[in-house]
Amino acid sequence: MSGRASVAIFVPHVGCPHRCSFCDQRAITGSQSVPHAQDVLSACERAVECGADLKNTEIAFFGGSFTAVPREYMLELLEAAKIYVKKGFRGIRLSTRPDAIDSEVLGILKDYGVTSIELGAQSMSDEVLMLNERGHTAEDVVRASSLVKEYGFTLGLQMMVGLYGSTPDTDIYTAERLIALKPSEARIYPTVILKNTRLGELFLKGEYRPYDLDGAVALCARLLDMFESAGISVIKLGLHSSQDVEKDMLGGLYHPAFRELCESLRYRNEMERLIGDDKQVAFTVPPKELSKVLGQKRSNIEYFRSKGVEVRVIPDPNASEHRIKRQTEDD
Ligand code: SF4
Repeated sequence: MSGRASVAIFVPHVGCPHRCSFCDQRAITGSQSVPHAQDVLSACERAVECGADLKNTEIAFFGGSFTAVPREYMLELLEAAKIYVKKGFRGIRLSTRPDAIDSEVLGILKDYGVTSIELGAQSMSDEVLMLNERGHTAEDVVRASSLVKEYGFTLGLQMMVGLYGSTPDTDIYTAERLIALKPSEARIYPTVILKNTRLGELFLKGEYRPYDLDGAVALCARLLDMFESAGISVIKLGLHSSQDVEKDMLGGLYHPAFRELCESLRYRNEMERLIGDDKQVAFTVPPKELSKVLGQKRSNIEYFRSKGVEVRVIPDPNASEHRIKRQTEDD
């Protein structure tokens, strides 16, 4: 969401008909209480007082299944948010379950100034959805996505990597199916195993084994490529780093800089392709990409050194965004 900001309001667990295998929203969002209208008003007011650029700021309801909460409660939150949409906020964004979307609720959301809807697809394998107790099918994701677009909302799709019963091939299949639905945005969440969840029990019993972190980084680097080459921006990759998650996790695919690891690997793969058989190579990169190109603790440079290749990376303020370029003698 480049250049955009949001006032995030977490609506933990309210409205979920049951608990998905991996979910402990309170640990993930750090939110213990259920927000009400006054909380929405205060959060928006704070953003105004802090001088937020309102036309680029969305009011975002995350965490639970927004359209599955009791209707009166949903309208209470939307009423409060709408006051600030009228005061110049860009709009309202929310996340929900694919089976909690129909024409009636989309009509209501439109009236209240909702602009973006994210659907938690998580997997496009019905077997994986069933094993993780999602309570909806892949077909629900297809149906809800097309309805969301039909009503003119920005569509975002969320997927998880390494769920119980999933394999890297299943995850790639999920990404392909989601890309075919042409969302504007995607979020990719590698599965983290939290205490007090069904997945946690399966893990402790040895019935669920997560991917190893390196394998997950390689897979997610590939997924990132797939979405971005289809023109879909990946607005989140990995859970945001949080003390609550670190305290409540049993294992799984968590790293406080997960996205950076994936992007560094992508750069390493690209450098490898550009290096060919040469032994001394220099690259120019945009300065803000420098740390990713070097890798954590210069791991990319060390990787090439271990193969007998000396790589130099030169920050170049004129380099185009995300571009790494091999320096030639003419440069
Ligand atoms: S629908 Fe979302 S918030 Fe509700 S239990 Fe499942 S993952 Fe958690």
